[in-house]
Amino acid sequence: MGRTVYVNGEFLDESEARISIFDRGFLFADGVYEVSSILRGGLVDNDAHLRRLGRSLRELSMPAPASAAEINAIQRELVSRNRVEEGALYLQVTRGAADREFSYPRDTKPSLVMFTQARSLVDSPAAAKGISVVTLPDIRWKRRDIKTIGLLPASMAKEAAMAQGADDAWMVEDDCISEGSSNNAYIVSPDGEILTRHLGSEILAGITRAAILRLSRETGIPVIERPFTVEEARHANEAFATSATTFVYPVVRIDGRSIGDGTPGPVTKRLRALYIEMALEQVGSAGSGSNP
Ligand code: PMP
Repeated sequence: MGRTVYVNGEFLDESEARISIFDRGFLFADGVYEVSSILRGGLVDNDAHLRRLGRSLRELSMPAPASAAEINAIQRELVSRNRVEEGALYLQVTRGAADREFSYPRDTKPSLVMFTQARSLVDSPAAAKGISVVTLPDIRWKRRDIKTIGLLPASMAKEAAMAQGADDAWMVEDDCISEGSSNNAYIVSPDGEILTRHLGSEILAGITRAAILRLSRETGIPVIERPFTVEEARHANEAFATSATTFVYPVVRIDGRSIGDGTPGPVTKRLRALYIEMALEQVGSAGSGSNP
C-alpha cells in the first residue's frame, strides 16, 4: 500500500490511480496546479491558493471541477487519510479528456487530481546554509501569472543550474531577474530595502510572496516592488527566494560570487522566522482538519 491519492471523486491507492491518455493535461499541458504546504496536519494559506487556482482557471476558460469549499474538504480529507503532519499537497486541474484537437473541446469534464508528499519543511538544511543560484535566460512563455503545468522550461533551468553545481536558477529577462525556477526572487539592497519584481504577466503572484511582503511592511522593513538587475543582485546585502514549500530560502551565492559575507543574512532569517510563526499560528496545534 502506497499513499492514498485523489482522482476525480475517488480516494485510491496510488498504484490504482488512472488518467486517460486523451487527457489534455497529458497532450497539451492544458492544466493548472497549486501546491499548499502542510504544517501540523493543517494547510497553510490554502484559501489564497484556492483563489489563485480560480483565477488560473478563469484565465484559461477552464471549468472548475468543484467549488473552493468542496476542494478544501477533499484536500483536508486527503491530508488526514495520509496522516501527513508536515509536507506538501499537490493539486492539479486539467481540462479533461477529449479527442486531440488544438481548440478547447466543449463539454469535457475537468479532471481533479491530488496527492500529498510528506517531508520536513521547518527544519531545512538548505534554509540553514543558504542556496546558490546561477542566472539563466528566462525562456518561458509570456503568461507566467497563470500557474500552468507547462513546467518544462523551469525544469530545464533547474537542471542546467544543477549541472553547473548550483542549487537553482534565477531567470533573467532584459538584464533583470524575473524569478527563480519555482520561487519568487528578492534582494536586500545596500539601503536595507527589499526589492522584488512587481506583479504582472512576467512572474507568478506567489502566495508566500504576498505573505512575506505583508510581514516585511508590518515589521517596518521597506519594500519596493520593481525589477532589479543582475548587477544589483551581485552587490546586494542579502538575497532570498520564497515558495509555499520552502518558505524563505537564503540565497548566498549568485553566479559563483558570494552575496554579502556568503551566509544567510539577518533580514532573511527574520522573515523566515516570522513566516513560520505566522503559518504555525494559522494551523494551530489541533492537527488535521483544524483550519477551515
Ligand atoms: N514562481 C514560480 C515560477 C513558481 O513555480 C512558484 C511556486 N509554485 C512561485 C513563484 C512561488 O509561489 P508560491 O509562493 O505560491 O508557492
